[in-house]
Amino acid sequence: MNNFDFIVVGAGIAGASVAAQLAAKAQVALLEMEERPGYHTTGRSAAAYEPNYGPRPLLALSRAGIGFFKAPPPDFSETPVFTQRGSLVIEAKGQENAAQSFLSADSKLQVMSEAEMLALYPILRRGYANRGFYDDGTGDLDVGLLHQGFLKWFKKRGGRLACNAGAQAITKAGKLWQVSTPQGTFTAPVVINASGAWGDKVAAMAGVAPIGLTPKRRSMAVVAGPQGSDFMAWPFVVDCEESWYSKPQSGKLLVSSADATPVEPHDAYADDEAIAVGIDRFMTATTLEVTRVEHTWGGLRSFAPDKFPVCGFDPTAEGFFWLVGQGGNGIQSSDGLSRLAAALAQHEAPPADIMAQGLILADVLPERFRT
Ligand SMILES: Cc1cc2nc3c(=O)[nH]c(=O)nc-3n(C[C@H](O)[C@H](O)[C@H](O)COP(=O)(O)OP(=O)(O)OC[C@H]3O[C@@H](n4cnc5c(N)ncnc54)[C@H](O)[C@@H]3O)c2cc1C
Repeated sequence: MNNFDFIVVGAGIAGASVAAQLAAKAQVALLEMEERPGYHTTGRSAAAYEPNYGPRPLLALSRAGIGFFKAPPPDFSETPVFTQRGSLVIEAKGQENAAQSFLSADSKLQVMSEAEMLALYPILRRGYANRGFYDDGTGDLDVGLLHQGFLKWFKKRGGRLACNAGAQAITKAGKLWQVSTPQGTFTAPVVINASGAWGDKVAAMAGVAPIGLTPKRRSMAVVAGPQGSDFMAWPFVVDCEESWYSKPQSGKLLVSSADATPVEPHDAYADDEAIAVGIDRFMTATTLEVTRVEHTWGGLRSFAPDKFPVCGFDPTAEGFFWLVGQGGNGIQSSDGLSRLAAALAQHEAPPADIMAQGLILADVLPERFRT
């Protein structure tokens, strides 16, 4: 009953998406330690699609997914998971050096004057910024729809999801991995480690050396937008040093100091000081007076030492496959990364459309940490 071709540990966006891809051809078990999938980082993102923001492999993987996000197959979602928004990177006074990276020759960003920025973002404080860089290729992703779409595919394709099924021990018997959980023991020749911030802990259970993943906490605040203003159409706004950002979401404004504090994997919560710093920077940059924070949350963005994702079989442990280290881009890269991971896990060639986006396979394979 519990014998599979693949066992995926972790049912966040990474685990759900690769499990859905694999289930098209194989018997797959998806194990989640919480009582529902998506409770940790996946349920706590800013839901942005920024194909020009992030480490290079994640950009290639994110760009490969835009067609899918705009027009997913009807059995995945009847509506698009992507909505166009636009992003404005503000060069605040004193950020001239940081702004250089936005001025590269191949940059598709539109350089904007203060007046042009005010037309898009009327609360910008006059005199705060030298100029801005506008990207109209960005947008919002409906994370719930995306995650549920992958889970729907997974179930329809015969996959088995087990919740309250945290991996507690992972051992090898011959060529088969045995994963012990409170819901029983599952066996398969391949274990896919998609456990997010817990990636190195799950590897340790299997006797596999760590990658050196660092979970970093980010704190988010929700505040009211200005009354009588159509602020839901405002862009995602960030300064060149990423010292704060804000975006409209669900009739409110999200504000963050873009904190990135290294922590142990845990059920993350917002850091009060980071929230206060974020609100202070936001009020310095804008004319909106925040009198009350309505809600806060925290989440863990997990990074490999080189900030690139880790996707592939571990060369030191047969059948142990890594799918971790998506940092702040795991939602937007989920289509591309899940298709790449499924191909590699089945010893197939990487999808051509992803390679055409300029992905360098060596950037993502775990081999780079094993030499
Ligand atoms: C504040 C914030 C803003 C972000 N904004 C964006 C954004 O705008 N765009 C974007 O693309 N990305 C964004 N991200 C990043 C994105 O959310 C992550 O990259 C992505 O959710 C990671 O998915 P995951 O499945 O790897 O991790 P998770 O969602 O954490 O899933 C891992 C799962 O593994 C489970 N697990 C752990 N240990 C075990 C075990 N032993 N047995 C079984 N299950 C286990 C956990 O319970 C968890 O459900 C943001 C992240 C944060 C925190």
